[in-house]
Amino acid sequence: MSLPDRFSKILLLLEKNYPVFFGGLANFSSPFQLLIATVLSAQSTDKQVNSITKELFDRFPDPEAFASSSISEIENSISKVGLYKNKAKFIFELSKQLITEYDSIVPTSITELVNLPGVGRKTANVLLNDWFNIHEGIAVDTHVKRLSYRMGLTDKTDPNKIEVDLQEIISSEKWGRITHLFISHGRLVCKAQKPLCKTCFLLKLCPRVDVIEE
Ligand code: SF4
Repeated sequence: MSLPDRFSKILLLLEKNYPVFFGGLANFSSPFQLLIATVLSAQSTDKQVNSITKELFDRFPDPEAFASSSISEIENSISKVGLYKNKAKFIFELSKQLITEYDSIVPTSITELVNLPGVGRKTANVLLNDWFNIHEGIAVDTHVKRLSYRMGLTDKTDPNKIEVDLQEIISSEKWGRITHLFISHGRLVCKAQKPLCKTCFLLKLCPRVDVIEE
């Protein structure tokens, strides 16, 4: 079976088993708020981010609110998430840049998004796929990285190179779904420490590249 055919079959089974996304970011009501929540999620769990975003966006709903605040005030509001000092600086600068360069409107291309402080391809892809329904790329987080490698869809470890490998074997209309499906499967079955291969519905399609048998 060719790699694209195998990947298509894997996606079909994932779609069947996960009609609803298991987990994810919550509490956002605009592309700006999803952008901030995604910036906050780097090196942190969605649960940690969700625990602060309701209060955060009540206080800072838009770029103007963050930009008219101070980095230390933002630090205080996000101190429960990892790397909060760096993230506070990014959020403050990002908000100012959005106001001055984009009239407070979040841009809709990867090229523009990755020029904002603290925004990489993963964050840009999450925003484009999940809010704007624009599929310029695939968001490669820790689950997409681990599952792609285990399932033999890539032999790379760099997220940008993994994204290219995945893009080459599946058509772009599927790009927006891959991340949610892989995150769901990674959380429930193909876990980082102990993947549940024996009961996994993908077993026959998966070479289990780095899985050590017990
Ligand atoms: S068979 Fe194992 S390694 Fe492959 S996707 Fe399932 S749990 Fe992950």
